[in-house]
Amino acid sequence: MNVHEHQAKELLGSYGVPVPPGAVAYAPHQAVAGAAELGGERWVVKAQIHAGGRGKAGGVRVAGSLEEVGEIAADLLGSRLVTAQTGPGGALVGRVLVEPAAEIARELYLGLVVDRGAQRVSLIASTAGGVEVEESGAELVRETVDPALGLRDFQCRKAAAALGLSGPQLRPAVALMRSLYRCFVETDALQAEINPLAVTADGKLVALDAKLSFDDNAVARRPTIAALRDLDEEDPKEIDASEHGLNYIALDGDVGCIVNGAGLAMATMDAIALHGARPANFLDVGGGATPEKVSNAFRIVLTDPNVKTILVNIFAGINRCDWIAEGIVSASRELDIDVPIVARLAGTNVEEGRRILAESGLALTAAENLDEAAAAAVSSLEVAA
Ligand code: GDP
Ligand code: MN
Repeated sequence: MNVHEHQAKELLGSYGVPVPPGAVAYAPHQAVAGAAELGGERWVVKAQIHAGGRGKAGGVRVAGSLEEVGEIAADLLGSRLVTAQTGPGGALVGRVLVEPAAEIARELYLGLVVDRGAQRVSLIASTAGGVEVEESGAELVRETVDPALGLRDFQCRKAAAALGLSGPQLRPAVALMRSLYRCFVETDALQAEINPLAVTADGKLVALDAKLSFDDNAVARRPTIAALRDLDEEDPKEIDASEHGLNYIALDGDVGCIVNGAGLAMATMDAIALHGARPANFLDVGGGATPEKVSNAFRIVLTDPNVKTILVNIFAGINRCDWIAEGIVSASRELDIDVPIVARLAGTNVEEGRRILAESGLALTAAENLDEAAAAAVSSLEVAA
């Protein structure tokens, strides 16, 4: 789960990471009032969307007067901001963050990631912060954290030295890194990124941008994090699926997939690709899929207008093929399904499941195995085209 920059800053600030004061606005007059209250003569107005690359796309702008704050806010709010990270459709800007403009001397990069190679959390630092860090990747320092010990002072000092932070900047830098790490661990974050971590003209460190993303599987035990969720930033199909206990991720192909088990879902997507087509989604109905769950899966997959055919692939261990079959039959009665369906059922109660499908009178193709199912789904696309 991702959150907005202003939420990430508030959270990091509560852990002691220095962040600028700011005001969130949903309308231009709120942005102006916020800027007036913050005081100063120059402000930055920042589009709040769950994607980076805003600076280069015109989503982060400096205003030299309150009037200009209002103009920029009016321009951004309600617009779709297209950045290198949003995809061509862009993201709707529903709120902006107004901050007093900082005078930047240097832009650094500081991040924490779950380092899969090391199977630990790693601290990453670079002097090439700002909008270019993805491309440059220059001078990366990586410190891997022992979870039993936490991030150690010597590791912070090493990273600080690499960032050229010494003398009076050393202690604040170490404290900032420790605060960042504590926030990361205590919120079950998967990624934390401060880019830029600015050194201001008067030598202070401040997190000018902040990105936090959290482990979806841990949000349930973190009510303060769960409260930060912005459903406007998520795919409605994915929200619908999560409300029905389905694990759905929208993709951009045209073969709808209904599968049980994440591994089998991945294999199914691979098989579709192997036969020359692309999956429209990842969908794991999970174990113990009831007919209702299967029916919801069909409904959600079919709300994607790109879906031209549906491939059902069930290997029932905990699941029961007869329930899956009942789900398919009831879905096709409730929903107006006008795309071909290919179903491959195997495992528990498979004979009963196949009988239900055969006797349903539904025009679906039954397949014996995954390869056959993927081939049939892909060739049904070609027939339709
Ligand atoms: P991103 O492009 O989505 O990562 O958005 P950022 O919040 O990182 O802003 C992009 C760039 O805008 C930063 O790298 C800075 O160069 C600039 N910027 C952001 N805040 C300020 C500020 O307060 N003062 C100045 N002068 N520049 C800023
Ligand atoms: Mn940034």
